[in-house]
Amino acid sequence: MSHTCEHTHDHAHDLKPDARAARLEAAQTLCADSGERMTSSRLRTYELILEANGPIKAYDVIDRFHPEGAAKPPTVYRALSFLEQMGLIHRIESLNAFVACDTHDQHFGSGHTAGFLLCDCCGKSEEIAIPNLPEIEASTAKTGFKVNHVTLEAHGLCRACQTEGATDE
Ligand SMILES: [Zn+2]
Ligand SMILES: [Zn+2]
Ligand SMILES: [Zn+2]
Repeated sequence: MSHTCEHTHDHAHDLKPDARAARLEAAQTLCADSGERMTSSRLRTYELILEANGPIKAYDVIDRFHPEGAAKPPTVYRALSFLEQMGLIHRIESLNAFVACDTHDQHFGSGHTAGFLLCDCCGKSEEIAIPNLPEIEASTAKTGFKVNHVTLEAHGLCRACQTEGATDE
């Protein structure tokens, strides 16, 4: 992050290993239910994104892919685009990074829209619900405008970073 702060960033929100295993299993179920194949490279890519516990760049996924060395970039890029289509991960455009979908309600799965609150201090991201494409289309129908893609990425400071900052004064 470009911003530097005095306080430390704990990782209290990291996914526990069993929660990660549950996410991997849920992803496999989602793929099976959709008639898609969760190949080993897709699964490994998803695992690395879950392990990152926050936005991660494609080249970091490539680097960490094998214990013994990097993956072939096209393998990872194809896996990323598959996972994104399935709604298992999201691309955060302003960071050019990927993050695991954190929504497990009715929005879970392919085709859901997601907004993000992005802390410029600790780098944490939080997924928030935004209107889905049909809802937005319904409200823009009169304009004749064809919406392809909606992004909401709010940059700022998370609660923890604000609180830590305040204690310095
Ligand atoms: Zn999501
Ligand atoms: Zn901070
Ligand atoms: Zn923060």
